Amino acid sequence: MPAILLDGKQIASEIRQETAAEVQNLTAAGIRPGLAVVLVGNNPASEIYVRGKVKSCEELGIYSEKITPPATITTGELLALVNELNARDEIDGILVQLPLPTQVDAKKILLAVDPAKDVDGFHPMNVGFLSTQRPGLISCTPAGIMEILRRSHVDISGQEAVVVGRSDIVGKPTAMLLINANATVTVCHSKTRDLPGVCRRADILVAAIGRAGMITPDFVKPGATVIDVGTNNVTDPAEFQRLFVGNAKREETFRTKGATLVGDVHPAVAEVAGKMTPVPGGVGPLTIAMLMSNTVKAAKMRRGGRN
Ligand code: NDP
Repeated sequence: MPAILLDGKQIASEIRQETAAEVQNLTAAGIRPGLAVVLVGNNPASEIYVRGKVKSCEELGIYSEKITPPATITTGELLALVNELNARDEIDGILVQLPLPTQVDAKKILLAVDPAKDVDGFHPMNVGFLSTQRPGLISCTPAGIMEILRRSHVDISGQEAVVVGRSDIVGKPTAMLLINANATVTVCHSKTRDLPGVCRRADILVAAIGRAGMITPDFVKPGATVIDVGTNNVTDPAEFQRLFVGNAKREETFRTKGATLVGDVHPAVAEVAGKMTPVPGGVGPLTIAMLMSNTVKAAKMRRGGRN
């Protein structure tokens, strides 16, 4: 029986509705949550992401501000801008869109964001709060993965979870969240020996690698839940064939657009897994939904007690 597909769009839509209701309540109490997005230069992919974030704020009633300094900005100038946003009471969330130009010290910038406004959850203080189970702001994609698991009633406690990828923004915080939810967690990376064998132990397998269709059916225990974080744009026809041979819908997209979006999990895994997230329409929609939810959380944590 093919895997049940976990509908990220539907789950994201539920979270957005809940968040919009919270925004209404807060606004009625005189606290309109506000998000500032800093977009340096004109990276086309970043522009698309930022547009999506601002549009989402508008839909949910969150105040948003887009700040677009030139690509030539220095670390000092960007630090000054972040400090200004840190000081403004009506700004609850500050998001500095990555990547930053090479002359800017990105680590210094992320460290300058007030941890109480760090809606991306990248500040070392929030990372520390997560690892010591204190309240804080949690990185959006990992938080979204947990929402998918919980809202799809996937058992986590006591289960074997394997996370492939150890990045600071996805792999590590996802592993930490799974540990906090009482899973037994293994984290894999490019130096892991016998990756398929380790992955086959997983009741919950999270792929955050950045390699199109790398997780094939031989990596997956029958019945496992597979969460595919990868977003890879496939343009090579041979690669496309390896992934989607016989899939008429994808073939049509590939013919007309010359590219298609694919995760880190091979589509044939659907024949083995019990549940899995599709790409697109799985983890992706959760990332912006959790950013909105984090902005509201930041507003409540910072300003909620004052009225
Ligand atoms: P990174 O490149 O920062 O990390 C990739 C990880 O995968 C590294 O830990 C790396 O190991 C590991 N890896 C790479 N190749 C292999 C291999 N052959 N075998 C085992 N492990 C390997 O990527 P990110 O964590 O930032 O992103 C991962 C994917 O998730 C990307 O496709 C990205 O586009 C997507 N993504 C999607 C989001 C969404 O909203 N849906 C949000 C964020 C990311 P090592 O550490 O040893 O190098």
